[in-house]
Formats: sequence, C-alpha cells, structure tokens
Amino acid sequence: LPAWCFVALIDKLPVVKSKSRIGKLQSAIEEHRLDALVVSHLPNIRYLCGFTGSSAVLLVKGDVAVLFTDGRYTQQVRDEARGAKVVITPMNLEACGEWLRKSRSRRVGIEGEHFSVVSRRRLSRLVPSGSKLVEAPSLIEQARMIKDEGELEKIRSAVKVGAHLFLATLKAIESGKTESEVVGEMEYAARKAGAEGMSFSTIIAGGKRSALPHARASRAAIPRGFVVCDFGVILDGYCSDRTRTVFKGRPTSEARELYKAVLESQQAGIEAVKPGATCGEVDDACRKLLQRHKLAKYFTHSTGHGVGLEIHEAPRLAAKQKQILQPGMVITIEPGVYLPNKWGVRIEDMVLVTEKGHEVLSPQDEDKELITI
Ligand code: ZN
Ligand code: ZN
Repeated sequence: LPAWCFVALIDKLPVVKSKSRIGKLQSAIEEHRLDALVVSHLPNIRYLCGFTGSSAVLLVKGDVAVLFTDGRYTQQVRDEARGAKVVITPMNLEACGEWLRKSRSRRVGIEGEHFSVVSRRRLSRLVPSGSKLVEAPSLIEQARMIKDEGELEKIRSAVKVGAHLFLATLKAIESGKTESEVVGEMEYAARKAGAEGMSFSTIIAGGKRSALPHARASRAAIPRGFVVCDFGVILDGYCSDRTRTVFKGRPTSEARELYKAVLESQQAGIEAVKPGATCGEVDDACRKLLQRHKLAKYFTHSTGHGVGLEIHEAPRLAAKQKQILQPGMVITIEPGVYLPNKWGVRIEDMVLVTEKGHEVLSPQDEDKELITI
C-alpha cells in the first residue's frame, strides 16, 4: 500500500472460518463469480465483522477481508473488528481501490442499494483497467434474514425494553401531554431502561392524525379518539418495533368494531406465519380478514417487514412477495386501517418464525383488547 493511504496497518490474524459470517459470504461471492465485494452499508459491515464505527468500507475477497476506516476509530476497531485485516486510512474508498488494484480483482461487486453514484465513479477510476464494477445481489441482506441465537437474544431484550415503554406512553397520554411530550417521556424511559436510542422516530398520532400511517408527533394536544403509538428501541445494535392503538375518551361502537377488525386481521396474519409460507400469503391473510369488514381498501401499506440491525430489513411482507418464510426470521405483522380525516388503527407485534410455526415476541401476558384512557 502507498504511504498516503494508511497511518497504521493493524494486522490481525484473518480468522476466516468457513462457518463464520465472512466465510459464508466468501463462498457466496465465489458462487456469483465475483472476485471481490465492496461492502459499504454500515449495518452489513457490523454484521460481518462487528465494527460499529460510522465510517468504513469492508472489502471481502475469496481469501481475505480488509476493513478500511479512519484514525478516529483506531482504538475502537481494535476492540470490535473480528475476522478482517484492518487498514487505518484517511480515505477509505481510495485505500480499498488500491487494494483491488494490487490484487488484480476483475469483477468487483458493489452494493447497488447503498453505493452512491459519486463513490462508484471514484472507485471505478481506481480499479485496474479491464476491471468491472457490478451490482452484486443482496447476499448479506439475505444472510441477515435468518437470525442466529446470539441475535435472537439481543432482539428479545430489545423487545422487552420496547414493550415496557408502553406504560410510559399510557401515563403520559393520561396526564394530558401533547404528542411530542409523550414521545419525550417515552424516549427518556427508553434511555433509562438502557436503550442506545430509538429504532425510528416515535409515532404518536391522535384524533384525525391517527389516519396518517407515518405521522410525526406534533406539538398538538391529543384530542379524543384513537391514538396510534408506534415505537421501538435499539439495544445492543438490534431494533424492536411495536404499535398499539388506544382510545382517548369513550369509544363509539363503530370505533370498537374498527379496532376489533384490525385485531382480527393481525391475528389472522400471525396465524399464517410458518416455515414454507410465502410473505405474500401472510399479507393476504391480513387483507382477506379486512375485506370481510369492507375495510381492505383502507389498509394502505404492506403487512410487515424484517427487523434486526435495521428497523426495516428483508424480508418484506407485501402482496405477491414470493420470499419463503424460514425458521429464524424475525418479522412484524402490522395491519392498519386509516379512514381519511377521521381516524386510524394499527396493531403491530414482532414475530419469530420457528421450526413448528411462530412465536410472538411481545410479552404474552398482555391483552390486546382496546385500552381506553
Ligand atoms: Zn414496523
Ligand atoms: Zn412500527
């Protein structure tokens, strides 16, 4: 390597076992006839080698993995990174390009969904002539769909802390706080319970605003009617995601029926979760139930998504999705019905696909009947 591209080369034993995450990726890279894969998506880097810094590129070749990061992370990378050689450099991509040039890599995979046009242009100038940058299939995202025991343990802890927050939510709504103040209380409770942060911007949407599936909490007081509360925490890097809808004031029978329909739809979706079922079939199960209540046209989003190091990851549970559910996948089931300018209801839980069927990850002592405040 030329002197400009590193301050220190921390040589670690390349602990590349065929069963390790990097080892499995290396086999997949070879199967797809790639000479190398440039991993730029940080959650993928964390998944593969454990490094949690905010700037890095991981180059994976058939026989070696090299992690490029800058001087801010010299100590952290020593503590965290496993299974990869480490290069400390002020310019990750340039150092990676240099390595590709030296190793004469010809077909170099990039992560199409995460690699910017500018990065692609910079890297293509650095690779040897005759080399080609190609969009690689989402090999790491596919591997990440199936959680191992260690990941499941972290997810269970995140779900537990996330579920606990709902108490803070109820208390804050009860005491007349605004949407944004309720969010503040929840986030404070999350931090106190050990969360590293929220897994996304908490949604508290009351009254008419509950009809906006992805409403941001406003500074408005919470009016009477449904209040959609969608929240999650990050613990040890893993996300939780959950939605509860409560009612402020006395619900009409129409409101109760709407809530019941969504709850039945969610139950039908959960029941459909088993190994061998497709994501489309689970989506269909939720939609069919709402069709019976003539509410399907108001269910305007997909049924759910994978959850792990990222809040939204593969698989996607939507109409016609052919992805087959397999044991170890962690997904959400979150049907919702939104009547414009009136109100909306969504109920969401995280579900683990098991060998025999499924396991709902939320605490099981909880009753999901409509809570009124
Ligand atoms: Zn979700
Ligand atoms: Zn959610």
